[in-house]
Amino acid sequence: MTATTPLGFGERARAALADPGLARALLSIRRGWPEARARAIARLPEFDALRDHGREIKDHVLAHLDLYLERFEEAVRASGGEVHWARDAAEARRTILGICQRAGARTVTKSKSMIAEEIGLNDWLEANGVTPVETDLGEYIIQLAGQRPSHLVGPAVHMTREEITELFSRHHGTPPRERPEELVGEARKVLRQRYLEADVGITGANFLIAESGSVVTVTNEGNAELTHGLPKTQIVVASIEKIVPTMEEAFTLLRLLARSATGQEFSTYTTVVTGPRREDDLDGPEAFHVVLLDNGRSAMVGGELRSMLRCIRCGACLNHCPVYLAVGGHAYGSVYVGPMGAVLSPVLYGIEQARPLPEASSFCGRCEEVCPVRIPLPALMRYWREEAWRRRLAPPTARFGMRLWRHLATRPKLYRAATAIAMRLLALLAGRRGALARLPLAGGWTGTRDLPAPEGATFMRLIGRRMR
Ligand code: SF4
Repeated sequence: MTATTPLGFGERARAALADPGLARALLSIRRGWPEARARAIARLPEFDALRDHGREIKDHVLAHLDLYLERFEEAVRASGGEVHWARDAAEARRTILGICQRAGARTVTKSKSMIAEEIGLNDWLEANGVTPVETDLGEYIIQLAGQRPSHLVGPAVHMTREEITELFSRHHGTPPRERPEELVGEARKVLRQRYLEADVGITGANFLIAESGSVVTVTNEGNAELTHGLPKTQIVVASIEKIVPTMEEAFTLLRLLARSATGQEFSTYTTVVTGPRREDDLDGPEAFHVVLLDNGRSAMVGGELRSMLRCIRCGACLNHCPVYLAVGGHAYGSVYVGPMGAVLSPVLYGIEQARPLPEASSFCGRCEEVCPVRIPLPALMRYWREEAWRRRLAPPTARFGMRLWRHLATRPKLYRAATAIAMRLLALLAGRRGALARLPLAGGWTGTRDLPAPEGATFMRLIGRRMR
């Protein structure tokens, strides 16, 4: 997989905007999930009250995170499993590889996990002689394509059916299949065999239940269930904020999750796993491990970004973001994309590397409006913009422009005089056409469209005239 960082966002975004196949794929998100969400919410009058409840649950957990994590660890141990703490991605990778090696694993099946993506697990396992096989259809597709997921819920939403047909035909050595159900059938046939061969199953977790030490996963394909149930060793890799006190809180959040993600009332499969197989269980692993990843999250708990830890990874903020819907997920160069990625990526990569992402927002506020746990995403992106400014990361031209602006904006007389001259000059330059095709320092705008010229008067003067 090609390693990318958020720093190249501008270049990748320009390439994405010129890609007609991607535009078609993104159009299907724009037309699909937001409408399905709106229909699902219209059928649930208490949805807003549920969002408040969801936010309260997550805030309560974050205020008592240490307590719930310890309780979870005790409960997992009591059920016969093991908990491993990982401070960062490297520690998590080493822990998981160690478990795989002790199990003598050569192949592992994986169900979709953003945390596994975050720690770069597949590349690490492969480099150490263990073959990971993704079992979620979208993840399987992008694994074959050597790509990263481009969406939290639909990792391969950026690909067209024609691209997937060609990919399957090349990798499976089969004739090109035209119909989506034929493609699904082909993937199912290949993956069935892989499930049987796997020595270890690795899953993520949607929720961790502190009271019982259980792990809750949701899928629409049933692949997490086969990944849990067939191999002798199971590893769950999850971040620390996935914890909730009891099953009751998990179900409240599950009601928000499916509706916000895909407009379903509930995902097709919701599975609860507790510890290894017991004597009278029909199936299940002999060994059960949970790897709990921090990777900068405990530092977020006491800081300005704390509310970001409420995220339940529904993807609604992506589906409603005009920037994401124009450039897709790969432009972000990060595991986490869209508005939530613009807040989380600087935590993972550092603001020096991820500075373009909080800038890639029109601040229209749609992300905050649809977030099921009411995360104030624009305010958090603004936090990072201010942080980048404090650390002097903006280019000198931008810093000069901002200083000039501040100088003018704090001197009203000078401001009015300067803007009146500028407005008249722009109107003169535009002439009868009423628009400018080019303007120094405004290339970002005029590169793709004309700049409508002002009417020759400032905003203040126009308002003044209307008020008279
Ligand atoms: S930030 Fe909110 S809307 Fe976006 S993925 Fe997380 S929970 Fe969903």
